[in-house]
Amino acid sequence: MPTQHALIIGGGIAGAAAALALTQRNRMTCSIFEIRSEPATIGGAINLTPNAMRYLEHLGVLPRLKPKGCEVKYIDILSLRTGQPLGKINFDNIEKFKHHALRVMRDDLLQSMLQTLKEAGVDVQYGMKVQSVIEANESISAVFEDGTTVKGDILLGCDGIHSAIRTKFIDPSRMPEYTGVACAYDLLDAGDLREIIPIESTSLYTGGFGSLLLSYTNAAKTRLYISAVMGTEDVGSREGWAIKGQDQEAMKQDLLRRFRGPTLPFLEKLLSRTDSLVLYPVFKISDNGPWTSGRMLLLGDAAHAMPPQGESVGLALEDVMLLSRVLEHCNGKSVEESFQLYDKLRRPRINAAVKMANFGFETVKRNGWFKTILIEWITWIFLAFTSSRKEREFAYDVRDIDLDCFG
Ligand SMILES: Cc1cc2nc3c(=O)[nH]c(=O)nc-3n(C[C@H](O)[C@H](O)[C@H](O)COP(=O)(O)OP(=O)(O)OC[C@H]3O[C@@H](n4cnc5c(N)ncnc54)[C@H](O)[C@@H]3O)c2cc1C
Repeated sequence: MPTQHALIIGGGIAGAAAALALTQRNRMTCSIFEIRSEPATIGGAINLTPNAMRYLEHLGVLPRLKPKGCEVKYIDILSLRTGQPLGKINFDNIEKFKHHALRVMRDDLLQSMLQTLKEAGVDVQYGMKVQSVIEANESISAVFEDGTTVKGDILLGCDGIHSAIRTKFIDPSRMPEYTGVACAYDLLDAGDLREIIPIESTSLYTGGFGSLLLSYTNAAKTRLYISAVMGTEDVGSREGWAIKGQDQEAMKQDLLRRFRGPTLPFLEKLLSRTDSLVLYPVFKISDNGPWTSGRMLLLGDAAHAMPPQGESVGLALEDVMLLSRVLEHCNGKSVEESFQLYDKLRRPRINAAVKMANFGFETVKRNGWFKTILIEWITWIFLAFTSSRKEREFAYDVRDIDLDCFG
């Protein structure tokens, strides 16, 4: 039986991209079910790597998205202690990558995807909380809390790191774990600050108390995203984090304590202007767990949320593009066989990405003076040694995989 109808749980990046790819390329019909009552994102701005840009172009999203963001040719990485550069992440290779990176507001990304979806005739149903899943021989059904039951050929869990599809129906043991790191961000009007901010488009300052990212989010470079990633004690509950996040003055003082210093005096000026900081804890899930069960498959963060390394949107889009190709290739085979092939092709790249993300992430936790200097050296060596690997990763494209080799 051909795979014709996909039930997609989660209307975020992976869910919207999956619906676009499967309707456009595989001529399937898709129904998206989102738990929130309306489209929403958390996390401010996001960097889209060149591979993410190519996939968004392929899905028809890029023309409406690109004018909204700020082109990023490289991310400068600097020491907070000395102000000296430690290296860069280079996106400036149009010949190989086709695009530079782009810093955009998450909301602009989601809205651009939703508009493209609307044009493709796919609706997202909001306020839908999945209660149970029923597998039959030739189909799968999702039952929602409001009593609605929908039937499809496959069910894609695109419901993010806290995925109900993963924790209820695929692997209850893979619960999200707090990483010990939280993120606090704000957006500043940079119009009158431009001359004191010495960044091209994006700079990351690393120090003993965390790292601080500055990045413009629009082409005119008038809106500055300022985001701190830092070791933070667990407060134990969602409410606890919300309460901690309400105390703007305490958060501002904490950031000033961590990141101000005589070497980079402009940081104090910027941090003093923050008054709408948003705080959220960063979670991850255990590595290398199962992604599939019967007709269900996890995509994006639901499958492989890892410590933030600025590349996971590209990985989520890549999941989707690969799945689309595998379903096309496996036409006539069972859903389980298709998902097995997908898993086999996808695992090595994801495992490698998780390893790199875990390695880089430890450095943002609190470090003493000696360890900070050591980490600066390690960062410098790491960036130098991994630059060609990064170049290969940004050029990598799942559309180039020769699936005929896999029967
Ligand atoms: C601090 C931080 C910074 C980051 N920066 C970057 C960056 O610069 N570049 C980059 O590429 N990546 C970055 N990432 C990673 C990136 O945000 C994620 O990889 C990406 O959002 C994953 O998309 P997704 O669609 O899988 O999940 P999500 O974006 O989390 O979307 C999941 C959707 O499912 C919905 N949902 C949840 N539960 C249910 C349910 N039970 N039923 C129905 N719907 C449900 C949610 O409401 C949401 O709409 C960062 C992550 C963090 C934590």
